[in-house]
Amino acid sequence: MTLEKKHISAAIILIAAAVISIITGRQFLAKHYPETFYPSPGLTRTGKLSDYFSGLQGTENDSRVYFFEGEEEGSTVLLLGGTHPNEAASGLVAVLVLENVEVTVGRLIVIPRANRSGFTVNDPMEAHPQYYSIPTPNGERRFKYGSRLTSPLDQWPDPLVYSHRPSGQRLSGFETRNLNRAYPGRPDGSLTEKTAYGIVQLIKKENVNVAFDLHEAAPEIPIINAIVYHEKAEEVALNAIFELEMEGISVSPELSPSNFHGLSHREWGDYTDVYPFLMETSNPIQGRLRGETSAELIVEGVSPEYRMALESGALQIAYKETGEPIERRVARHVTCFRRVIEAYNQLGNKPVILENLPEYEDILQNGVGAYIVAGK
Ligand SMILES: [Zn+2]
Repeated sequence: MTLEKKHISAAIILIAAAVISIITGRQFLAKHYPETFYPSPGLTRTGKLSDYFSGLQGTENDSRVYFFEGEEEGSTVLLLGGTHPNEAASGLVAVLVLENVEVTVGRLIVIPRANRSGFTVNDPMEAHPQYYSIPTPNGERRFKYGSRLTSPLDQWPDPLVYSHRPSGQRLSGFETRNLNRAYPGRPDGSLTEKTAYGIVQLIKKENVNVAFDLHEAAPEIPIINAIVYHEKAEEVALNAIFELEMEGISVSPELSPSNFHGLSHREWGDYTDVYPFLMETSNPIQGRLRGETSAELIVEGVSPEYRMALESGALQIAYKETGEPIERRVARHVTCFRRVIEAYNQLGNKPVILENLPEYEDILQNGVGAYIVAGK
């Protein structure tokens, strides 16, 4: 190759690298713009997590907090979505609730993006899409699909072994960026620990009585279609699950293990007066057996590979013949959330009355898009 040809090749490679950098750089930056939500007219005020712990000010995880306060005094409920931003139904349910709910008695506090940093990246090596879309009567609405963990750009490097404070429990190093292994959190810890600390401060300062942490998991994970509860909330959980079973919604009751630390359903209950509940639905895109990985898999939940596993009978999986569509996962979470609050009210506690939320069958029939505002 002559010197001139070498120069031309080098120039082409440089230009191609610049074009790729600009395109991917723009995509990367776009993941940092906050999503727009459209709260219902029942919204009374908003705040930020830094209102409860100033150490979060100016960080990616100074998440927005939405308040819906009834005219009549009652108990206070907290709903957390997006602890793990790769668990789509979790964040979507929080959006559906905040865009519809009317509170007549008591208060509801919603944090739709608990670990906002995790929404700015995807999990490495998973081929996950950056976004997924929900069809609404007025067009598609796009949501961010993120990572289970805090972004390494916000918290780095991971230790070889993560030592949970104050229990001293040891986990793999990457778990240091898992919000649901960080409770009760530390004011002088990592960003993930600070976020957990801020949420616990909110529970204390707002005197939250009942708190929900919404999740999804791979179909082959044993704790699925489940409500995990702290022992002090057992009566409420079992009453709610009885009601759900009567409606034909099968939910497994899971008592929070007392020796596994860092989890919302354990530490919220141990460190505050709240009754904590964690809920799980089945999301095939998180599973090891899934085949083609796409935004459609998040929404439609149809995986021929999981169907084969179901038909073989060789594996205990939470996967139905028709798949695990987002409608059913969202309907499950919304209904479990409502039934737990109703059980709490029926057991003689100061009530919380939430109105204008769809029933299980409504969401299955009309789709999630019928209950969220159409937008970008
Ligand atoms: Zn999760």
